[in-house]
Amino acid sequence: MNIPKTSFPRVVIIGGGFAGVALAKKLAKQEVQVVLIDKHNYHTFQPLLYQVSTGGLEPDSIAYPIRKVLQNFPNFYFRLANVDEIDVENERVKTNIGDLDFDYLVVASGSATNYFGNTEIEKNSMAMKTIPQSLNLRSLILENFEDALLTSDLHERNALMNFVIVGGGPTGVELAGALAEIKKGILPKDYPDLDTRMAQIHIIQSGDRILKGMSDKASQKAEDFLEKLGVNIWKNVRVKGYDGKTVTTNTDLTFNAETVVWAAGVKGETIKGLDAEDFITRGNRIEVNQFSQVKGFNNIFAVGDVACMKTEDFPNGLPMMAQPAIQQGEQLGDNLLELIEEKPMKPFEYKDKGAMATIGRNKAVVDLKRFKFQGVFAWYVWMFVHLFFLIGFRNRMVVFVNWVYNYIRFDREARLIIRPFKKNFKS
Ligand SMILES: Cc1cc2nc3c(=O)[nH]c(=O)nc-3n(C[C@H](O)[C@H](O)[C@H](O)COP(=O)(O)OP(=O)(O)OC[C@H]3O[C@@H](n4cnc5c(N)ncnc54)[C@H](O)[C@@H]3O)c2cc1C
Repeated sequence: MNIPKTSFPRVVIIGGGFAGVALAKKLAKQEVQVVLIDKHNYHTFQPLLYQVSTGGLEPDSIAYPIRKVLQNFPNFYFRLANVDEIDVENERVKTNIGDLDFDYLVVASGSATNYFGNTEIEKNSMAMKTIPQSLNLRSLILENFEDALLTSDLHERNALMNFVIVGGGPTGVELAGALAEIKKGILPKDYPDLDTRMAQIHIIQSGDRILKGMSDKASQKAEDFLEKLGVNIWKNVRVKGYDGKTVTTNTDLTFNAETVVWAAGVKGETIKGLDAEDFITRGNRIEVNQFSQVKGFNNIFAVGDVACMKTEDFPNGLPMMAQPAIQQGEQLGDNLLELIEEKPMKPFEYKDKGAMATIGRNKAVVDLKRFKFQGVFAWYVWMFVHLFFLIGFRNRMVVFVNWVYNYIRFDREARLIIRPFKKNFKS
C-alpha cells in the first residue's frame, strides 16, 4: 500500500464517516501515523440523502473529499480501498490493494441496509444508504413519471405513480414528506398532460406509531403533518414480500408499486475477521466496552454505527446516529493518545443531544432533552443543525442557497436523470 514505516505507532482507521473523520481530526498533529481507508474517496452526509433522491440537492453538496479533510495533517495517509478482512492474529488488514500492518486498529465502517434475510425485497426494492443509491432512486422516480405519460393502461400508470416507503423512522418520514411536496408543487407543472393527483405515497410501519425513537408528541405531530400533505400511513402492517410489482403484507393489504423504498432497518457493516459470533451482538454490531475496545483486544476498537456500546440508558447499544459516532470518534482520539503513553483511558459518556426530523416546508419535529417542539421553529432548528454539521464551507453555502431558492420558488431543480437507472440492476 506504499505506506512508509516510521518510529510513530500506526493507527489504521477503516471508514471516513462521522466517527472515522472525528477520530482522524483528533489525531491531527500528534505523534502517530494515521492511515484512513475508505471504499469511497468522500465522506457522505447521510441525513440529507433523501434530498438528493428527491432533486432538492445535488450530490456533491452533501459529499466531501476525505483527502481534503486530512490534507493539512502531517503523518496522515488516505487509501481508496475496500477492507476485505482483518487478520487479528497478525495485526494486519487485508484490502483489495494490498495488506497493511497496524499497531492500533479502529473499525468505523458504519452500517448497511438490513433486509432481515428477505432476498426478494433486497433485489427489487430501493435502498438509500449511499449517494449512488440516492441517485438511482432520483432517476427511477423521474423515469416512472416519464413512463406513466406513455402508457394507456390505467393499472400500470397507477403503479408507476405509487411510492411505497417501508419504515416510518426519520428516513421514511423525511422522504415521504419530500415526495408529497413534489406531488403538490412540481408534478402538476412538469406533467400538465398527466393526472398527477393519482400519485400515491404510502408509509408502511410495523409498529403502532411512526418516529418511534422520538416522543409521542413528535410522532403524533409528524403523522398530522404527513396526513395533511396527503401521505397514507399504514401502521401495524408488516411487509412480507415485493416481487418488483406488488408489495404483500401480513394483512389483506397489497400495494401495486414500481417504486418501493426500504427504510426499515440497518445493521452493522462488519468485516471478516471480526464478524464471528463472539464479537457480534444485536443488530450485527461489534460489542465494545466503555473505551470502545473490542472484546479480547487492547488495541482493536470499533466506533459509530458498527459498534454496540451498551450503557445503563441504552441497554441495547447507543443509537445508530451521527452524534454517538462523532462523540465516540472524538473520545477515542483522546484515549488512544493516553493508551500510547500508557496512561489510563477515560470511559465514554454519551451526551444525548436529542433527535429531530423534518416533514417538509415549515414542518419539523424536534425532541431536545428539556424541550420538545414542532412546526416552523423546529424547521429552522433542523436546518441550522444540518448546516452546522455539514463538512466544508462550500457545502454549507451551496445547501443554504439551494434551500433559500427552493423555499422562495417552491422548486427542486435537481430533478435530472443524469444516470438512467434500470430496475433490478444494482450498482
Ligand atoms: C438516509 C439516512 C438518514 C439519516 N439521518 C440521520 C439524521 O437525521 N440524524 C442522525 O443523527 N443520523 C442519521 N442517520 C444515521 C447516520 O448517518 C449514521 O448514524 C452515521 O453515518 C454513522 O456514522 P459512522 O461513522 O459510524 O458510519 P458512516 O458515516 O456510515 O461511515 C462509514 C464509512 O465506512 C466506509 N466503509 C464501510 N465498509 C468499508 C470497508 N469494508 N472498507 C472500506 N471502507 C468501508 C464507508 O464507505 C463509509 O464512508 C441517517 C442515515 C441514513 C442512511
